[in-house]
Amino acid sequence: MAKWWWRYKTEKGSVWRNVVDATHFNQNSWGYLPIKKGISGSWNMINKLEKEFATRNLNIRSLIKGSCGNGLDIRFWVDWWVGDGPLMECYPALFALEKQKSVLVAERLTVWDWRRSPISVQELVELQGCSTLVSTTVLLPTVDKWSWPSSPDGPFSVSQCRNLLAKYAVPFYPFSWFKWVPRKVSVFAWRAEQDRLPTYNGLKRRRILSGSSLCRVCGDGEEDAAHLFNSCVAAALLWQQISSWCRIPPIYAHTVRDLFDVPNHIGCSAGKKDLIKMIILAGTWTIWKMRNEVIFQGKRVNLQGLFGEVQAITFAWVKHKAKKKEWTWEM
Ligand SMILES: [Zn+2]
Repeated sequence: MAKWWWRYKTEKGSVWRNVVDATHFNQNSWGYLPIKKGISGSWNMINKLEKEFATRNLNIRSLIKGSCGNGLDIRFWVDWWVGDGPLMECYPALFALEKQKSVLVAERLTVWDWRRSPISVQELVELQGCSTLVSTTVLLPTVDKWSWPSSPDGPFSVSQCRNLLAKYAVPFYPFSWFKWVPRKVSVFAWRAEQDRLPTYNGLKRRRILSGSSLCRVCGDGEEDAAHLFNSCVAAALLWQQISSWCRIPPIYAHTVRDLFDVPNHIGCSAGKKDLIKMIILAGTWTIWKMRNEVIFQGKRVNLQGLFGEVQAITFAWVKHKAKKKEWTWEM
């Protein structure tokens, strides 16, 4: 079905595209393809593919790239034609100020049209970046073209698309929802396990962020879920403290999945396994919270504080979620 995205882009003026436009085109929408959600049918299904791709960490908008001729077919913000992805994703603050979200390249290259002038630091930084990026574009007396950059031959092919999906797709792994932890922690763990957390590397992969993806906790290594919860210095120290607290062998894992799997490989009672499962979830949750506080609230990295917090969270969950009054390793 992804083929239709490509065909819509490249078959301008064709009868079927005119029919789609007549039915679905909406001046005020800036979706990648024209869509009126109230109208069901196959076009609606094709449109939903964007979400389907997104669940596999693929941005369908960044798969088809325009190359600018006269700039009358490519939309300035919505389509990808310059830089690393659609400008609406690279410069979100500016895009929020744009009056005509679906404006064409030819219309926008000469003059901006804002709801109000950019004034915040982020808006000004984005304006400078965006202006520099598009400043070298020269319009030509030829029509705009589309290509499929992931395929060396340019045009879309179904097999290329399939390869791409296979390459990036995360196989679905039924995460064992754990009744003793708050739901938001279960959801967090499920996302971590599939590397779908908004880590620096994750955001870069989805072309939402450019720049350094260095871990802000240790400054040593690219920040993705595997790093943050396994190899980061914060994680290494925390797992060491936790394994001696729980009196289990040292915890070593390379992936988040392996980490969550640790309790299954320890020879102990089912009750203790559940407890360790909970403590590992508390550990990853605490690391993630600390990481967010460092990045978004400017707090300092507090490696020693992590373990105490994990203990406090664990006691609270045992008491309120597991409804156990007494704490023992053999619950
Ligand atoms: Zn780190």
